[in-house]
Amino acid sequence: MRGYIGFDIGGTNVRCGIVLENGQLVGFYKEKTEAKKGVKEVIKKIISLIDKVKGEHPEVEIAGVGIGIAGILKPAKGIVCFSPNLPGWRNIPLLDWLKKEIPYPVFIENDANLIALGEAWQGAGKGKENFLLLTLGTGVGGGIVAKGKLWSGETSGAEVGHIKIDPKGERCLCGRRGCLETYASATWLIRRAYQHLKAGMPSLLNKDKELTAKDIFTAAQRGDILAQYLFDLAGWALGIGIANLCNILGFTTVIIGGGVSNAWNAFIGQLKYTLAHEVLAVDYGEIKVLKSQLGNMAGIYGACYLAKQKLANGQ
Ligand SMILES: [Zn+2]
Repeated sequence: MRGYIGFDIGGTNVRCGIVLENGQLVGFYKEKTEAKKGVKEVIKKIISLIDKVKGEHPEVEIAGVGIGIAGILKPAKGIVCFSPNLPGWRNIPLLDWLKKEIPYPVFIENDANLIALGEAWQGAGKGKENFLLLTLGTGVGGGIVAKGKLWSGETSGAEVGHIKIDPKGERCLCGRRGCLETYASATWLIRRAYQHLKAGMPSLLNKDKELTAKDIFTAAQRGDILAQYLFDLAGWALGIGIANLCNILGFTTVIIGGGVSNAWNAFIGQLKYTLAHEVLAVDYGEIKVLKSQLGNMAGIYGACYLAKQKLANGQ
């Protein structure tokens, strides 16, 4: 039977799966990225994982390999321009290097784009021609599926985390101010929580402990005003960002995934309220905001689907 190997290369882990033509996942592997050892070591890891997958699944005829990488890429040229989580990855001709080592057709793409593609194939976007996906994690990423295919520009695009919400806002890691990411990512929920706690705002949250986004969600569920305020702020910013995109694209389906999306009930009310006020291209009632279905496996499905689609198109 025919199948594809998909990789999700993050700053912490290299995750890999083998998915058959019909969308069935038959194997999953995870190893530490050890990004500090450099690009060549990560490539060695990819190759050894491919050998392992082949060895353990001799029944699968590997048709192609898809690889998702956090960062800004030029997928058609096969170049990783910059990756915030992979130190030293600047203008790396990754595809050329991989092609010398991997005996299968190989394709690379931005990791959040592949999450969108995975949801399109086997998740919340299945059967939907057009949708926008946002992934709320350490940062905020996204992908656009248009007419059943991933939108991929000259650069990997869909950097929805850096939509401007407030020009006078906090300075984002990208160097600009008031990006969506500075409201709706786990990093910034936590950072803002500390800011308010240090300023003396009463809360169930403890400023002397190492907080997680989950702690803030738990406090919000218990009626904590600071925690609920932070999720309201995230929902408000998401509502504005999503409305801007829906106004431009005319899309009516939005899928939200990533770790922070587990706090769904804490932000979805404010998100929908703001979206209803900010959207103009379509009737608000038509816009469906859905939770992702594949969780942290979406990127692997998407990487496999990328290879499947590209090969079907003769690329
Ligand atoms: Zn930014």
